Amino acid sequence: MRTPLVMGNWKLNGTKESVSTLIKGLEAASDAATNVEVAVCPPAIFIEQVATLTENNSIEFGAQDVSTNVEGAYTGETSPVMVKEFGAKYSLVGHSERRQYHNETDAVVAAKFVAIQAHGLVPVLCIGETLEERETNVTTTVVETQLKAVIDLAGIEALENCVIAYEPVWAIGTGKVATSEQAQEVHAHIRNWLKAQSEVVAEKVQILYGGSVKAASAKELFAQPDIDGGLVGGAALIIEEFVGIIEGAK
Ligand code: PEP
Repeated sequence: MRTPLVMGNWKLNGTKESVSTLIKGLEAASDAATNVEVAVCPPAIFIEQVATLTENNSIEFGAQDVSTNVEGAYTGETSPVMVKEFGAKYSLVGHSERRQYHNETDAVVAAKFVAIQAHGLVPVLCIGETLEERETNVTTTVVETQLKAVIDLAGIEALENCVIAYEPVWAIGTGKVATSEQAQEVHAHIRNWLKAQSEVVAEKVQILYGGSVKAASAKELFAQPDIDGGLVGGAALIIEEFVGIIEGAK
């Protein structure tokens, strides 16, 4: 059985005060949900604060992005080694906003995936199609291509120790959640496609759904056999919503 994972992606949001309020508001729900793993991905500057606030509770944390470089003349970047030093477990990689606004290609995403694993973090590999791609029926080709870039560089075994987040781009931040049937269909396709390469990976890898998940939609989404939790943006900033989403994964 795969443990459900509910992960908040805070994107570019927060103040020292709101970070503290949010973590304090989540810890009871996280500790009570013993069969659900709860994690948050704050902006890099709040990682140290989150590390301190999560020392005595079950909330895990990760970065939203890291550099492929460990150190050196790379202004503005955050090293996976630095993130690890503060106790992070995860790093997102290939989020559609990074692909769109920072021109991260599949090759860049694959290199970051390798760097994240090489420095002891678990990559949360984000994949998903645009609206145009869905409407032209190439969703499965798109997600396979995005996965293949990582597998070609890292090897299929590397996916034993990662999380996949299927996030249809048209559902991110738009309020348009994929129906549980639409999401399950793609999740099952991903798992079967992986199974043809490695049964172990297919059985083990958690595949999260992301895209406008709310407390009201979480339970039905997470009840699908191939949906192992959620990557949550907007609703992760609202304590009651995120607690409701954690409840939906129990
Ligand atoms: C995300 O940022 O990964 C995300 C799914 O955002 P939202 O929940 O706001 O659609």
